[in-house]
Amino acid sequence: MLEIRDLKKQFKTDGRAIPILDISRWHVAQGERVAITGPSGSGKSTLLHLISGIMSADSGSIAVNGQPLHELTEAKRDAFRASAIGYVLQDFHLIPSLTARQNIEIAMASGLTQKERRHIVDGWLERVGLAGRGRHLPSELSRGQQQRVAIVRAMVNNPPLLLADEPTGSLDWETAEEIASLLLDLSAAQGNTLIVVTHDLNMAGRFPRCLNIQDMNEVRREALPKQRIPVASGQREGVTL
Ligand code: ADP
Ligand code: MG
Repeated sequence: MLEIRDLKKQFKTDGRAIPILDISRWHVAQGERVAITGPSGSGKSTLLHLISGIMSADSGSIAVNGQPLHELTEAKRDAFRASAIGYVLQDFHLIPSLTARQNIEIAMASGLTQKERRHIVDGWLERVGLAGRGRHLPSELSRGQQQRVAIVRAMVNNPPLLLADEPTGSLDWETAEEIASLLLDLSAAQGNTLIVVTHDLNMAGRFPRCLNIQDMNEVRREALPKQRIPVASGQREGVTL
């Protein structure tokens, strides 16, 4: 499902190129559910951006569902992502002026009638415990509910690959547990491959496969740029791996 070979990514800061990722080989099988942990600044979000094709690698290859991403033009990559990859971004990224239903509908594949859309969205809202909340704006929903909407938006086209970046990062402990269960259960039911990056060791421990990014990244930790990460309220502090 996912095949990474000789992947390299660096960023230029103040005219200096800083290597962030160097992964010689990583493979994820169809239907696997994988958690990637690692300290802040270790390249977890960058890795997901590369897998999703939002960002391109300096060299090497990433194939998703048999499709090498670098062989696609940017427009084709966008189309491929829309059909094959669901991405739960850090901090939900819902559009504040749209209702929960509208936030989901804008991600849906075209070619459906209004009635079909309504039916599909109703089914999903019900499935994630948000029946009757379709007309709420994000500001009228709790953080956990907003995350559920973001998860539905990512899954509504049944993508074979689902990516999630710190999906429990800004949630209280109990809500984090619920969101972790939801991601694991929905992926098992849909049969999609799930890759989550997280600080949350409790969530990571619930995944059938869990690894530290530093086990596959050959950029030495000392070489990574130092950074201070603000700790959001509700997030567990002091977790370094
Ligand atoms: P993580 O998600 O593990 O906290 P990131 O992938 O966000 O780490 O970042 C890895 C490193 O790359 C960090 O040091 C970060 O500052 C740097 N970085 C990320 N994106 C950019 C960018 N667009 N330009 C320059 N540096 C970046
Ligand atoms: Mg990150």
